[in-house]
Amino acid sequence: MAISGKLLRKELIYAASALCERGMNSELSGNVSARLGNGRMLLTPASSAGILKGALTPNQLSIVAFNGELKSGPENSSEWRVHASIYASMPDVKAIVHSHPKYSLLFTMKHGVGMFNEMIPEACIRLGEAKYYLGYANEPERVGFASGKSGSQDLADSILAEIINKKVSIVVIEGHGTVAIGRSIAEALGRAEELERYAELSYKLLEGSG
Ligand SMILES: [Zn+2]
Repeated sequence: MAISGKLLRKELIYAASALCERGMNSELSGNVSARLGNGRMLLTPASSAGILKGALTPNQLSIVAFNGELKSGPENSSEWRVHASIYASMPDVKAIVHSHPKYSLLFTMKHGVGMFNEMIPEACIRLGEAKYYLGYANEPERVGFASGKSGSQDLADSILAEIINKKVSIVVIEGHGTVAIGRSIAEALGRAEELERYAELSYKLLEGSG
């Protein structure tokens, strides 16, 4: 059953607020989106719009076409290309969460994304369900890695290629943050949070043993 536009707005506002509350985004950073019909998406506003992302109201969300055209709402996030490229190529993806989580970044900068993929299966064995949250098509490589200038088509292309080629549901962007996809806002948000949780555990585990 298709989720109503009103509920979608409520869930998107919840996700943006949760990311701020949990320290995974600042009030002005990161962005969250959900697929709408007819080649459009619901997207959080640009940081330049000066709107608190932890306290959004339903009319502070933008409707943006996959070609970047703003249909309604405030000026949309400059990272719209990342969201639009994924939605246009992957019909199953219904929601995308882009955040700036500190341990996901710290771990990747210090140990590399390859080590992430070594640590996560271990964490799965000991702690249970991460593979269900993080895995996409049950592939062994669970975290992708992309790079590019913020807001550029190059960055969007790099993220999409990684998701498709490695069949991952979450990608770390070099020195920047993460992008998680899902069949729902709950799934995309949950994946970003699970990665951050395992990044923190893995980081501290390696620090403790080092
Ligand atoms: Zn960002």
